[in-house]
Amino acid sequence: MKKSFIIQILIAFILAVIVGVLFGEKASVLQPLGDLFLRLIKFIIVPLILSTIIVGVTGAGGIKALGTIGGKSILYFLVTSLIAICFGLLAGFIFSPGKGSDVVLEEGAAETVTSDGVMDTLLNIIPTNPIEALTTANVLQIIFFAIFVGIGITLVGEKAKPVQDFFEGFAEIMYKITGIIMKLVPIGVFGLLAPIVGAYGISVLLPLIKVIVAMIVAVIVHVALTYTIAVKTLGKMNPWHFFKGIFPAASVAFATCSSSGTLPVTMKNTQENLGISKKTSSFVLPLGATINMDGTAIYMGITVMFIAQYFNQSLSFPQILTVILMGTLASIGTAGVPGAGLVMLSMVLTAINLPLEGIALVAGIDRILDMFRTSVNIIGDSSACVVVERTSKGQKLNNDEPPVILT
Ligand code: ASP
Repeated sequence: MKKSFIIQILIAFILAVIVGVLFGEKASVLQPLGDLFLRLIKFIIVPLILSTIIVGVTGAGGIKALGTIGGKSILYFLVTSLIAICFGLLAGFIFSPGKGSDVVLEEGAAETVTSDGVMDTLLNIIPTNPIEALTTANVLQIIFFAIFVGIGITLVGEKAKPVQDFFEGFAEIMYKITGIIMKLVPIGVFGLLAPIVGAYGISVLLPLIKVIVAMIVAVIVHVALTYTIAVKTLGKMNPWHFFKGIFPAASVAFATCSSSGTLPVTMKNTQENLGISKKTSSFVLPLGATINMDGTAIYMGITVMFIAQYFNQSLSFPQILTVILMGTLASIGTAGVPGAGLVMLSMVLTAINLPLEGIALVAGIDRILDMFRTSVNIIGDSSACVVVERTSKGQKLNNDEPPVILT
């Protein structure tokens, strides 16, 4: 990958912070720049997910192979999410951000936040009308539809070949458009971050600074341990090469707070910088961007600890186990859009009878936490891609510039 592109993104980060600090709220004039990028990236998502998943399924080499990729991905997603929530709980325990905190409750803020139960979340995966799923950009439903279309094409065989060819061509067009939009990443990062830095003065951050610090530490530990080990041992890839390769996607995730929104960039990075085949990435990434949220799991762990401490509730061992289970489920049910994790937090709080007002406490800094968790979410998805690809027999890295593979 071109070094200059990473440098451009880094410069955009630094400039955004400088402009945000210098101009405060006035930095919001830059918002249209961020919105422009956001709209461009959003406009590609639905056709990209639909076509690439169909292509991913038809190219998987039969239903059995598909089951293997799917099974492996879901196992990896579950294990890493469980590890993530444990790191979150541990960080919440060590930093104890809720002890002696003088945060004031924002009355009523919690009431606006509700979430569906586990069963509804699961049932909602099945679209009653796939066209509606497409028009409302319901990612999980689109994935469901696309997987079935892919399976249908595979089962029908010869007669469905024109449809398969169509989607293959269509997916290529979507990749091309993504490539064009990618060039605007530094501008998008700048336009999205400067207004946020400007709006979140130190005064908003200070009371809850311990939560933010706990989050950052847990994120670093999870990324440095879990993904480094997974990528190195299971994926046989140099972790440095991995992190460098997905840096643009992680930056976009940081700025947009949306895994789904970052998907086109994540796909591009994993394919071109990490050499992951389109077959694997087009199946694993959309699925991961929707159900694999390790950053959100870390966040659940920390915020639950924080809220329990704040309201002077000590958590029993069965309650901790419930948090681990419900937190993992909640992270699966979280949509890859900004602020979704905050909504799902209510599910975990309800499960262990913690006051939902706790959500109001976190709401003030949620955007900051969202940046970190979304970046982790997409790094986790990318690591899943590497692991699934490299543990599959007969898989070859297909990039022109082969990454550094550890032997
Ligand atoms: N914003 C996160 C994402 O898109 C989800 C969350 O709010 O936790 O991955």
